[in-house]
Amino acid sequence: MSSIDAFAAERISVRYQTRSGAIDALRDIDLRIADGEFVAVLGPSGCGKSTLLKVAAGLITPTGGHATIGGKRLDRPGRDVGVAFQKPNLLPWKTVLDNVLLPARTLRLALGPATQRARDLLELVGLAAFADNYPAELSGGMQQRVGLARMLLHDPELLLMDEPFAALDAMTREALTLELQRIWMAQRKSVLFITHSIPEAVFLADRVVVMSARPGRIVDDFAVPLERPRHADTMASAAFVDACRYLRGHFQ
Ligand code: ADP
Ligand code: MG
Repeated sequence: MSSIDAFAAERISVRYQTRSGAIDALRDIDLRIADGEFVAVLGPSGCGKSTLLKVAAGLITPTGGHATIGGKRLDRPGRDVGVAFQKPNLLPWKTVLDNVLLPARTLRLALGPATQRARDLLELVGLAAFADNYPAELSGGMQQRVGLARMLLHDPELLLMDEPFAALDAMTREALTLELQRIWMAQRKSVLFITHSIPEAVFLADRVVVMSARPGRIVDDFAVPLERPRHADTMASAAFVDACRYLRGHFQ
């Protein structure tokens, strides 16, 4: 493990200017993610979670403070990150394989090795047999897995995920949560995972960072006391249930 943080937010504040006045979305956020660490950020709707993720992705410049990725100051969209959103935003006229390959052009990856890697990643997410299918031929959960493969194409060090499973039905969501842990354990990336689901945060994360209502501030940083790998049964364990109950206390 390197001592340089995969991600660090230093006193980040974001104020949006709107026609009806200024909105303070984030206030003095300090957050560190160590190399290989999985951190979930949990908070109520509208508290600034997506804003934080956009800062980490270099899509928004904070009005105060700054972010670093791998120790480097972040001032524009970086290529060291892979991003996944609630909707996988696949192009319907491209095959699954070509959708995974989409970032290859913008990131100027050599097409031969990138295509091989895309196939390996489709294998990793269980979609090797669907490389030549079109997105409309896949279920919502399968489409989200295509999005995960695409996020990993350029082998980024830091994964930024903004409620990637929120639009899925409960059973698919649970299956993908297990799958994401497996993928993460195989790839050992650092992860910033945004969610408003307490069980999802506890199941996946090494640490759960809790945000207050807007303007989002960090009000807790909870180390999850569960061994890995975690299984479907883990969700019924006393330690899991206690952790969820503890975190729920922040939102009552
Ligand atoms: P969350 O992801 O936790 O639901 P967001 O980061 O999307 O929260 O938004 C935090 C607050 O900032 C909300 O009140 C939202 O309305 C406001 N906001 C988000 N994006 C913009 C924007 N581009 N312009 C103005 N206000 C915004
Ligand atoms: Mg959001």
